[in-house]
Amino acid sequence: MDRWSIGEQESALDLAVSALLEHDIPISASIRAQLAVASEMWGQREALEERIGRCRADGDVSALRLLALADAVPLTGASVSERPELADLLVVPWIRCAVCEQVLGRAHEREPWGGLSFLAARYVLFRPEAPAQAQVFGSTSVWEALTVLASCPGDQPAAHLRLSHPRTSASELDFRG
Ligand SMILES: [Zn+2]
Repeated sequence: MDRWSIGEQESALDLAVSALLEHDIPISASIRAQLAVASEMWGQREALEERIGRCRADGDVSALRLLALADAVPLTGASVSERPELADLLVVPWIRCAVCEQVLGRAHEREPWGGLSFLAARYVLFRPEAPAQAQVFGSTSVWEALTVLASCPGDQPAAHLRLSHPRTSASELDFRG
């Protein structure tokens, strides 16, 4: 990579991950997923993904799970979606929602030497058992894909805690004193 393309954001992300590891700072599962996606956006995923995976987990209850590299076995595009733009691509399962089992995958082109392209050509949200329902995102829309995954209706315990705010009727007010 041209060294001039390494901008301040990339350096900052590298430093941040190094600091998390050096000081053994626990991070939530959603922060880990966001770090992974940010590293992808800035072309740093291959350099950082192993270290991001090693950061200590803080035991939160977020449903997002960054899959271990060993579990990121590429699938054929045709097996995860019926969309024709994925037909010739290989989809690497990447971030999973533990509630609805939806997976955010990176869809890579296959290089002539058999490996995967450095950059993903598409991103796809899919459930392994429901290829017709997959959502495909463009190469610059990985953050949008993560946002959709993170908005899983099954991952909103706070919604149940939303305080109702009944209108206080005049009869409940006490002006005495
Ligand atoms: Zn979900």
